[in-house]
Amino acid sequence: MNNGRIMIAGGGAAGYFAAIACAEANPEAHVTLFELTAQPLAKVRISGGGRCNVTTAFTEPADLVRYYPRGGRELRGAFHRWGPVETVRWFSAHGVELKAQADGRMFPVTDDSGPVVACLQRAAAEARVIVRTRCGVRTVRPGFALELTTGETVACDRLLIATGGGKAGGGLELARQLGHTIAPPVPSLFTFQIEDPRLTGLAGLSAEHAEVRVPEMKLRESGPLLITHWGLSGPAILKLSAWGARLLHDRDYHFDLMVNWVAPRGIDEILAELVRLRTEHPRRHMGGGNSFGLSQRLWERLASAAGAEPAQPWTSVSNEVLKALAGELGCGKFPVSGKSLFKEEFVTCGGVRLEEVDFKTMESRRSPGLYFAGEVLDIDGLTGGFNFQSAWTTGWLAGRAMAEAL
Ligand SMILES: Cc1cc2nc3c(=O)[nH]c(=O)nc-3n(C[C@H](O)[C@H](O)[C@H](O)COP(=O)(O)OP(=O)(O)OC[C@H]3O[C@@H](n4cnc5c(N)ncnc54)[C@H](O)[C@@H]3O)c2cc1C
Repeated sequence: MNNGRIMIAGGGAAGYFAAIACAEANPEAHVTLFELTAQPLAKVRISGGGRCNVTTAFTEPADLVRYYPRGGRELRGAFHRWGPVETVRWFSAHGVELKAQADGRMFPVTDDSGPVVACLQRAAAEARVIVRTRCGVRTVRPGFALELTTGETVACDRLLIATGGGKAGGGLELARQLGHTIAPPVPSLFTFQIEDPRLTGLAGLSAEHAEVRVPEMKLRESGPLLITHWGLSGPAILKLSAWGARLLHDRDYHFDLMVNWVAPRGIDEILAELVRLRTEHPRRHMGGGNSFGLSQRLWERLASAAGAEPAQPWTSVSNEVLKALAGELGCGKFPVSGKSLFKEEFVTCGGVRLEEVDFKTMESRRSPGLYFAGEVLDIDGLTGGFNFQSAWTTGWLAGRAMAEAL
């Protein structure tokens, strides 16, 4: 028996939060955290463009779980035990005040991730967590015997794997060595590459109320849509990429995207509005007739794509062209030929299968004494502080459970 010896693989948000929760709850616990790289909490530091979107102002678990394409069902009970309210309170008690933006995202009042990183490191040090950097866990045998990247072998009776998403670092392999199955990791939260003359030269323009669909996969999202140098981005696309992460990966990111630039209006309503414009303003240039709130350049581009001349008067626009324009506005087809990185935030869909973990304690159902927290699990959220929140929640639950199990 290695009394009280608890080891944590991974010095990210989840690993740190678990280490602190464990050591604060039970002074008998000897907690050692192993971080593969020289810099723990690297993602916390760069997150939210350096501002760190720590959590969300949406606090009701039943609402909150709707922002998780994977893991929502399992997290519901967990959020009742440790959710955004507890997170905000914890950071405040440890010296970091958070503020909510109108869109629900919560940041440090200083708009700087530095104090969040410093707070976690200070809390870990005060709770006597031993942090070893440049020291990863290479292999693990049941029981647990760990081989470190330094060549050492160490033993513990409780092990938390919090190595983050994806294959880098080998955390998923550790889980596999202890009998777990893995949902194959694929990217989530990305933007779409589209080469289409309708978008050329319009980078930076956005439509505030768009709807995007991939009919063959029954995917549909709405929200702001942004034209980029490479294609389309913005909240509507990011949400679609998250909910469709696996399906889109299986199609090698080649599919047709249908865009409604003026949602929630449907084709009939759009056509009726175009007819009204033609009837009421017969002599006006149709290029000046954008009553849909679209950016003028985008309106003119879509009008040209429908076969109209922006300089022509409304009265000369044929029914056929009106119908084509309604189609461009409400149901434009854009062939997607790949994905691009959304540099502000990206996560992994896939990881340790959730049915193999008890979400009351985050303990493995396959290997007693083994715990999981954070993105190594098959959990990922939309942008907005949801990914860190699941790391804090699962980290806290695992840390507390390890402390109580001693
Ligand atoms: C650019 C960017 C910005 C983001 N911004 C936000 C944001 O503002 N808000 C939000 O909610 N989410 C954000 N996210 C997502 C969020 O950062 C992650 O979901 C979160 O960091 C997951 O925490 P984690 O502790 O599970 O994993 P990580 O933060 O990835 O930490 C895992 C750690 O384990 C280490 N490790 C890996 N393998 C081993 C091993 N074998 N042994 C020891 N250590 C190992 C890694 O080096 C790493 O330090 C962002 C992501 C990115 C990429």
